[in-house]
Order: sequence, then structure tokens, then C-alpha cells
Amino acid sequence: MKFVTRQEWGATAPKKPWTWITPSRIEGIVIHHSGVEGGPTGKDAVRAFERHHMNTRGWSSIAYNWLVDVDGTVYEGRAQSAVGGATKGWNFKTEAISYIGYGFEPLTLEAQQGIKQVIDYLQHKYKNSLWIKGHRDLANTSCPGDWLYDWVMAGAKEVAAAGGVTQDDTKPVDWEELIRYLRNVGKGLAKKPLKRGSRGKNVLAVQDALKKRDIDPGPIDGIFGFKTKKAVQKFQLNQGFLKPNGRVDERTWDALLFR
Ligand SMILES: [Zn+2]
Repeated sequence: MKFVTRQEWGATAPKKPWTWITPSRIEGIVIHHSGVEGGPTGKDAVRAFERHHMNTRGWSSIAYNWLVDVDGTVYEGRAQSAVGGATKGWNFKTEAISYIGYGFEPLTLEAQQGIKQVIDYLQHKYKNSLWIKGHRDLANTSCPGDWLYDWVMAGAKEVAAAGGVTQDDTKPVDWEELIRYLRNVGKGLAKKPLKRGSRGKNVLAVQDALKKRDIDPGPIDGIFGFKTKKAVQKFQLNQGFLKPNGRVDERTWDALLFR
């Protein structure tokens, strides 16, 4: 674990001495994110959190026990097992880990490893007794973002970053496998085409493919709306041999993804 202590990042002394979590009362780990898209990273970010928490919010110290950066570096926040300030009502029985980044988007592999290392460390310390939750489970907030929340709920296992900042390039893409998969999706669409109102990752793939062909499908959001329908029709017309009905059946899917 690449670990940066309070002293190393230049922490300010807390306004009051720490209150420590009573070990027998500890129940779990709460995951947060900074929620800032394209925000600062590194020591600057940690110091900015500290300033915000101490000066703007008037808290005793930085709210999180741990912070994990996009590059996987772990920063000491409020000391471990100190009662934090991040999760109202739960600070006496949880340790808080905050991802320094925007949890709505895929985390880098390094960031996932960093968070996992802290979780593993805490589980070891507390004899595997802790639950892991997202802040949104305990308060009315979108924190820690959909992607990070799903990852945590799936057991916080490392997975390759899908479109994150870094890609795991040690494993080459299995193109054969990918093509087989996409062909199978197409077969399914023969019976049940994607159309206005459809949602999900296949819609996302369609929008992405349209965009690559310079046809604007509207926002790439996995929601098949009016703009996506218009874009599909335009593509079908351009192809000439497809009926321009704005639905993605097997033939349109194959033309879109394989031509
Ligand atoms: Zn939070």
C-alpha cells in the first residue's frame, strides 16, 4: 500500500483531541467520494478537504478516516479509528473511506486496489466483522456515485477499469469472444428490437456506434430516446438496404457494429 501519513501531507492539528471509536462498537465501513468531476487529486485535494471541513464546516478535523486517490495512493485522514465526521449518526461505529474522485464513473484499477487494501486492512484489524456500505445507504445522498456504489455492493473486488483513466493492458482484449457476444446480442434483437424507450448497455453500444459514424444520437446515456431514434433512421437510410424504421433489429445491429 502506498500510504501517506498526516505529517507527510501537511495536516493541521485537530481543534480538539480525537475521540476514539470503541472497538466493540465498530460495525462497518462507509464508502464516500468527493463527487467532484475532474477535481484536484493528491495532497492538494486532501488539504482542500481539510480546509473545507475545518474552516467552512467548522469541524474538528478532516472528516474521513482514509482517502484513496485515483492513482491508488492511500492518505491518512482523521486518524484510523478516530470518530470521524463524514457519516452523520454513524461516526461512532464506522470507519469512513473517501475516494478522491467522481464515483459515478469507473475507477482506475489502482484506485480500486487502494480502496480494497484499506478494506482488507480494516477487516483484518476487526476480525472480518465489518459490513461495507455506501454513504447513500445511511443518508439521503447520491454519494459515493453509481459506479463506485455498485462496485462496493458487488463485494469491492478488483475489476479492470471499464473506460477509466487507466486500462489494464496486461490482458489483451479477446476480440473473438467479444464478436461472438455481440453477434448473440444481435440474434436476440431479431425477436425484440431496441426501440424508443429501450434502456441499457446495448442501447449504449448503439449510441456509441452511431457517434463513431458521426451521427449524433443525443446523450450517450443508454436511454433510447427521440434523438437516438432519429439517428438510427438516418443510419438506416444511409445504408440503403435497411428499412428506416428507427428500430435496431438484428440486421441494423450487425450493420452498425460489424460494417
Ligand atoms: Zn459521502
